[in-house]
Amino acid sequence: MATVNRLYVDNAASQPLRPEALEAMNAMAAQGNPAGQYATGRVARSHLEDAREQIAELLGADAAEVIFTGSGTEANNIAVQGLAFGSKAQRGASVIASANIEHPAVMESVSWICDGPIDFGFTQQRLPVDADGRVQLPSELDPQEIALLTCMWANNETGNIQPVQQFADHGIPFHTDAVQAVGHLPIDFHDLGAATLAASAHKFGGPKSVGILLARRDAKILSPVRGGGQERKLRSGTVNVQGAVGAAAALASAYKNMEEENKKMAVARDLVRTAAENIPDVRIWTNEPALPGHLHMSFPGAEGDSLIMLLDAAGVDASTGSACSAGVNRASHVLTAMGVDVDVARGALRLTFGPNVTQQEASELAEKLPRIVEQARLAGMASGA
Ligand code: PLP
Repeated sequence: MATVNRLYVDNAASQPLRPEALEAMNAMAAQGNPAGQYATGRVARSHLEDAREQIAELLGADAAEVIFTGSGTEANNIAVQGLAFGSKAQRGASVIASANIEHPAVMESVSWICDGPIDFGFTQQRLPVDADGRVQLPSELDPQEIALLTCMWANNETGNIQPVQQFADHGIPFHTDAVQAVGHLPIDFHDLGAATLAASAHKFGGPKSVGILLARRDAKILSPVRGGGQERKLRSGTVNVQGAVGAAAALASAYKNMEEENKKMAVARDLVRTAAENIPDVRIWTNEPALPGHLHMSFPGAEGDSLIMLLDAAGVDASTGSACSAGVNRASHVLTAMGVDVDVARGALRLTFGPNVTQQEASELAEKLPRIVEQARLAGMASGA
């Protein structure tokens, strides 16, 4: 991270912009509207289509299947709502999602269509997760009853990878939120066989507010976004050429360097994990198979917020992993879905290492951690939250 003398271990929240992305975006600063029917429009469109092709190739999709959106959140909204509405006429009205481990972009979309203020006629079934945080798909599924299946590829808090292939194999429209996986794991959209897949550029060193939706050509999607009909009518709105080009450059860099970067992250993660395992009563939630840069754990008796504040004061940017609501440190919905007690879940700390992390930085963090946990435990738990 650029900030001097700080260690940034919140890469799952946002990865710093890769130099390749910045350079590609700077070259696009003066681009016109890609819908323009004149020379500058054609040039912008040609850069946009190059970016689309590059992304398609890296993710095992066709160029026509790459839809640029305004965020990973938007890509998930279009996919979940669009697929459910698109398949309702021909299939049943049941929406099956993994239990409370999905990101709000998916959970809230499912809740909106199933239990929101407007009765769309959908019902939802939430699948349980085991103690390792892995979603359990029922052995019997009736494809005709189900409008949509959805399960994230890798969890943003724990980093645990989900058995997405099992979900894709049922001939039921399947959406996967791959926001944490794209750029970090090999992805082949056609091999997976999902109807849709969501990604977000700022999670792999691209610009913020640039999402990618992969949408199979035969997927029936009634998009909730209406307007000028850009992006196969799935995501109306003027397309952000600079963002698309930055996303493509970042993704190319992430995949070119993936093996080496993943190794560096895993070495750093394991170093800190070993130190954490020596801290009394630690509980570790990141279980293999998992993303290489994730380390999610709890220190019972400590408040997650205290851990973050003490780390902040010690020069480390980290997170609890779960979004806090109105300043209250709520227990993570992911951990409680895994059966973790609320008090234990509240002492969570998520460290997510970046592609440039050094062993020296990891060693320094490993050395600091026991003292930080001790101080947080002395501060104790806030009551009532
Ligand atoms: N899905 C997952 C798993 C995420 O981790 C995030 C971001 O944290 C999102 C969706 C939302 O992505 P964006 O920030 O691009 O809206």
